[in-house]
Amino acid sequence: MNVLRENLHAQGVHTLLVQFTDMHGVAKGKLVPLTHLDGVLTLGAGFAGPSIWGTGLPRTGPRAEYYARGDTATVQPLPWMPGVARIVGDGFVDGQPFEACPRQVLRRALARLAGRGWQLRTGIEPEFFLLRRGEGGHWRPADDHDRLDKPSYDLKSLPRQMDFLHALHDTLVGCGLDVLQIDHEDAHGQYELNFAYGEALLSCDRLMLFKLAAHALAEARDMVFSMMPKPFANQPGSGLHFHVSLWQGERSLFAADDDGSDLSLLGRQFVAGVLAHAPALCALAAPTVNSYKRLTVGESLSGTTWAPATIAHGPNNRTAAVRTLPGRFEWRVPDASANPYLATAALVAAGLDGITRGLDPGPAITADLFTWTPAQVRAHGLGLLPQSLAEALDALEGDEVVCDALGETLTQEFLRLKRVEWIEFARHVSPWELERYAAAF
Ligand code: GLU
Ligand code: MG
Repeated sequence: MNVLRENLHAQGVHTLLVQFTDMHGVAKGKLVPLTHLDGVLTLGAGFAGPSIWGTGLPRTGPRAEYYARGDTATVQPLPWMPGVARIVGDGFVDGQPFEACPRQVLRRALARLAGRGWQLRTGIEPEFFLLRRGEGGHWRPADDHDRLDKPSYDLKSLPRQMDFLHALHDTLVGCGLDVLQIDHEDAHGQYELNFAYGEALLSCDRLMLFKLAAHALAEARDMVFSMMPKPFANQPGSGLHFHVSLWQGERSLFAADDDGSDLSLLGRQFVAGVLAHAPALCALAAPTVNSYKRLTVGESLSGTTWAPATIAHGPNNRTAAVRTLPGRFEWRVPDASANPYLATAALVAAGLDGITRGLDPGPAITADLFTWTPAQVRAHGLGLLPQSLAEALDALEGDEVVCDALGETLTQEFLRLKRVEWIEFARHVSPWELERYAAAF
C-alpha cells in the first residue's frame, strides 16, 4: 500500500477518483485524498446506498452504506485531470461483496469460467455521436458541415474533429490503452474508436475510462459526447459490439476444429446459448426505450442501419445478431447505452448454458437478413429480437438462467426501474402523435 502511495505521489498524484458503475452503466464516484488510500483499499470509499441506481439498499441500518473498495490493478493517473488517479471500486455492503454491484455480478460470472480454467476476452467497440444543442434546444451533430448522404468513412468530416479525436487518442494511450482505429461512422456526427481486446473485466473498466475521458474532452470543446443508442430517427444508431473469445491460458477454445466453420464445437455451443437467450439478453444489451429504435430493420439515409433484428448467426454476416469470425464471434446486439459489466455477465451465463446443454446454434446464415420479411425469418425457423423495452423485460423476467446470473436484487431492481422507464415513455404524448392525430378525427 505504502509503495503504491509513494509511487503515485512520485507521479504527482494527490487525489484518487474512486469510481464505480451504476446499474444504468453510468460512472459514479468521489474524490479521496491520496493520504487515505489505505481506507479505500480496506473498507472502501463510502456512499449512501439508496442514492445509487439499482442497489435496492435501505435508507437506514448497516446495509444503508455502499462501499466502493479500490482494486489496485486499476489505478491509473488521468491525463485530463492532473494530480488525479482513477481507481475502480468493487461494491461492498456490510463487509461482504455486494451482490447487485455490476462489477461484482461480472466477477461472479467470470469466476464460473475460471472454475473450468477458462478466461473470457472481449473487444468492445464504442460508437458515439458528438452533439450540440442548437436553436430552440434542438440536438444536432456538433459539426454543421457533416452532411454526406452516405457518411461512412467520411474523410471530409473526420479531420474537422481531429482536435477532439486526437486528444481522445492521446489520453487513452496515456492511460495504457492500445488504440487501433478511429473512423467516421454511418450517421452525421457519429464516430467509432476501437482499442485492443483483453480480459473481460479489464475491457469493461477500459470502456468506462473511455467514456469518462470522452465526456470530459468533448465538454471542454463545447460539445456533448453521446452514447444514446439512436439520437436521430432517419440515421443509424450507435452500437457497442462485443468481439468474444474464450481461452485456456494462451490456447483459444473457440479456434475452429478444421471442419470449415469459424468456431470450435465449444464456440458453436456458446453461440447457441447466446441465441437461445437472445430475447432476455436484449434487456441488458439494449436497455433503454430508445434502444429499440435502433434494433429494427429498415432503410436509413445511408442505405442500412447495420443493426441486427434477427436471432441468427452467420460467417462474417453483419446482418445477424451474431457474426462469426475465425476463432471469435461478434455479438452485434448491444448498443452504446448498455452497462458493459451486466451485458458481459449475461452473455457468459447464456454461453455457459449453451455449453452445459450442448446446444446447437442452427444453420449458419449467409444471406442478407436485412432483405428478409418477418415471414421469411419465421419460415427459416428463426426469431426476431424484441421490438420494445417492454418485450425485452418480459423476456428477461422469464429467463431463469440470465436472472440467476444477475442475482435476485439486481434482477428485481432492473425490472422495476426499467418498467417505470417504459411506462413513463408510453404515457408521453410525442410530437409525432400530435402531428398525426390532432386534426385527424
Ligand atoms: N451503427 C451500427 C449499429 O448500430 C453498426 C455499424 C457497424 O457495423 O460498424 O450496430
Ligand atoms: Mg461500427
